[in-house]
Amino acid sequence: MQTDWTKVLGWPGYRVYAYQIEEAGRHLTLWVRRKRGNRKLTCSQCGRRVYDIHAVYDRRVRDLRCFEFETSVVVELYRVRCPHCGVKGERSDQVPSKAPYSKRFEDSVGQACEGAAARQVARRMHLAESTVRAIDLRYLERWGARRRRPPLRHLGVDEIYKGKTRQISHGGVQSGDSRAVMVWS
Ligand SMILES: [Zn+2]
Repeated sequence: MQTDWTKVLGWPGYRVYAYQIEEAGRHLTLWVRRKRGNRKLTCSQCGRRVYDIHAVYDRRVRDLRCFEFETSVVVELYRVRCPHCGVKGERSDQVPSKAPYSKRFEDSVGQACEGAAARQVARRMHLAESTVRAIDLRYLERWGARRRRPPLRHLGVDEIYKGKTRQISHGGVQSGDSRAVMVWS
C-alpha cells in the first residue's frame, strides 16, 4: 500500500512510509522520506553540494487535494552543515519555501490567481486571503515574475485593424474614429 501511495504522490526521490486517512474530516496524511540512493544534498543558501548532515526533522506541508481529501505530507528533511554557510536547511524541490505548502500546491494557488481574485481563491481553498497573496508572490517570483495575463492596453482602432480600417463597414468604425478599444495584449 505504501508503494501505491508513493506512486500516487509522485514526489521524485521520495517514498511514502506511512499514511493516515481521516474519513470524517476528509483529510489524508502521508509520511514521506528519501528513497534509498537519493542522497544528494544541496545547501539551500548557496546551492552547493553538501555531505555533512547536522539534523533530521519532519516538516508538515499541505499538498494538492486527493479526490475529496485535503492532503498533508509530513516530509523528512535534513539540516546540513555547509562549509561555506554553516548549518542550513537542505534545498528541496518539493518544498522550496519555509511556508507550510508544497511547491505544486503553491503553483495551483498561483494558477488559480490567474483567473480569480485572491479573495475567491482563498475561499475555495480554505486559506486566508493574505496567505493566498503571499503564495501568489512566491509563485510569480519562481516562474520569472510576470502574470501571464498582461495588463490592459489602450489601442486605437486603427492600430488594431492594421490598415484594413477602410474595408470595415460594420459598427460605424472608420478611419480616424477616435474610439479606443480595450484588448488583452
Ligand atoms: Zn551553503
